[in-house]
Amino acid sequence: MVKLTIDGQEVQAEEEAMVLDVAKDNNIYIPSLCAHESVMPYGACRLCLVEVTKNGRERLVTSCLYPVEEGLVVRTNSERIASNRRTLMELLLARCPESKAIQDLAKRLGVEGTPFPLEDHKDCILCGLCIRVCQEVVGVSAISLVNRGVEREMAIPFYDDSEACIGCGSCAYVCPTDAIKMEDVSDTRTLTMPNNKTEFKLAKCKVCGKYWAPQKQLEYITSKVDLPSDFFDRCLDCRE
Ligand code: SF4
Repeated sequence: MVKLTIDGQEVQAEEEAMVLDVAKDNNIYIPSLCAHESVMPYGACRLCLVEVTKNGRERLVTSCLYPVEEGLVVRTNSERIASNRRTLMELLLARCPESKAIQDLAKRLGVEGTPFPLEDHKDCILCGLCIRVCQEVVGVSAISLVNRGVEREMAIPFYDDSEACIGCGSCAYVCPTDAIKMEDVSDTRTLTMPNNKTEFKLAKCKVCGKYWAPQKQLEYITSKVDLPSDFFDRCLDCRE
């Protein structure tokens, strides 16, 4: 274990833990959009900027990627941090002017508008969280970031090959701005991404008759794990 100070509060943390996680564990708020406990940190949104002091030197770092150290002094809300976060929020407000998640976070951080020209509204902030979850948790890698500069966007390969996607919806679940939407109606799940819409047939529970999970997802799991052929005949509610 190591001891460090965050906003004047002495805390203990596991070696190699990231400052953002340690702050969260100690109820110290640091804003973030792209971090999630189930995947590796990526530092995309940069809202989790903090100031660290080490050997008398102070600098700004991204707390989701910065490991704790013995004696480290961390500040989460100096004027310098607030100024950088304000600019980041203003850029996000210009990119996603209609996003409720972005508006809510801007309000929480005291940012009321943006001096930057408004872009055509997008929900996706390119944080890559969906991509990391699809790759690291689901193990599928069905989506990625493509193009460069202002053309950068999240997409399925070649914009129309959704073959790899199993319709699990994990990407929609973790998206911080609801840029990916998932809807189940009757026997069909529709997954809507910024550049693509895909439908998946849902499997029917043989006990209660409810449509409960994408057939393709169940086939994927069955192919990875040695399960009896009738294992997914019943939905989770109808299992003993
Ligand atoms: S729904 Fe498709 S793209 Fe999204 S996490 Fe699942 S496999 Fe990946």
